Amino acid sequence: MTELGEKIKRARTFAEVIGPLVERGGWARLQEALQAVPVAEVDACLAKGAWEVGDLRILLSPAADMRLEQIARLARSLTLQRFGRVVVLYVPLYVSNYCQNLCAYCGFNARNDVPRLALSVEEAEAESRLLHEMGFRHVLLVSGQHQRYATVDYLVELVRRLRTLFASISVEVKPLRTEEYAQLIAAGVDGVTCYQETYDPKTYADVHLGGPKRDYDWRVGTLERAARAGIRKVGLSPLYGLSDWRVDAWCAGMHAAFLTVHYWKTQVSISFPRLRGAAGGFTPPHPLPDRGLAQIICAFRLVFPDAHLVLSTREPAHLRDRLLPLGITQMSAASRTCPSGYSHTYEAGEQFDVMDTRSAAEVAAAIRAAGYDPVWKDWDVTYLATGS
Ligand code: SF4
Repeated sequence: MTELGEKIKRARTFAEVIGPLVERGGWARLQEALQAVPVAEVDACLAKGAWEVGDLRILLSPAADMRLEQIARLARSLTLQRFGRVVVLYVPLYVSNYCQNLCAYCGFNARNDVPRLALSVEEAEAESRLLHEMGFRHVLLVSGQHQRYATVDYLVELVRRLRTLFASISVEVKPLRTEEYAQLIAAGVDGVTCYQETYDPKTYADVHLGGPKRDYDWRVGTLERAARAGIRKVGLSPLYGLSDWRVDAWCAGMHAAFLTVHYWKTQVSISFPRLRGAAGGFTPPHPLPDRGLAQIICAFRLVFPDAHLVLSTREPAHLRDRLLPLGITQMSAASRTCPSGYSHTYEAGEQFDVMDTRSAAEVAAAIRAAGYDPVWKDWDVTYLATGS
């Protein structure tokens, strides 16, 4: 095991790992470490045949870009070996776009003058029935962070109503306490997604201009609190474009490794969201190119052969179709990024622009055309229900 792997194993929290690495000039040192990798080290790494978190420095380096075709072949073959040709489809359901935070890049930023809407439990249930009719059985409940809307009580009530409709209900809402996650799990939530946005503390402070989200440490501990409560799966990622994407991806890999080692009963999935246009007109200071996105996906597949890798409708259709064979095992489809986005009963501001605007049926057809099977239902749930 590498020194980094040992450090992750010994740490009690992920904050203990990431803090010393990124603070007080640490971010620049991580950048230098990636830049300093020679091609010979990449070749030696690829010859190993099995990889761990310490190898991400090599696989995410500029030097590894020179071996991307070889890395992509390895990633594709590992994915087929571990997952076969299955791609699980899910859909986000936005229940509220009220937010108290001032995230510079987000359409829901409290200072943006966009139509605000919080769905009642009945309205959210009606919206979810439309998603059920489209075929979805995995739903991700999303909301802005606000003390009055999308509260734990609201989510518990909504999830109780939805759990007969969906095989999997995940949430992407404000970071909660462990006991609050326990309440959601008891109601029927089985997944929690929380993007750190960036692991660079300086950029994090620069783009989170106000509101509770300014607290980096509280956010970085979110998935540990959910895992301690017993959640079945967690999803993580940076938001690519805010800071150096190679370093952010490396840090996300450390985060995934920490959760995998310390909470082995919880499945870790990794997403690859790139910043998209939104109200407020924020321009990504460190845009992630398509080739870089492919390199990150392949690197994660090699280091985390059993993790679900997720690609959302932030990416355009043609690119999603091309990236799929590299290691993607979950995709969103037909997404709308505002409350009431499926029924269009009310007008509401969007969080960001969706790039893949195909219908759910069109996405499923494209997956089939590529030789893969679109799956609407996670059979793990059935297995767990009968096996316990
Ligand atoms: S990213 Fe989340 S917390 Fe920040 S403004 Fe948007 S909805 Fe609110």
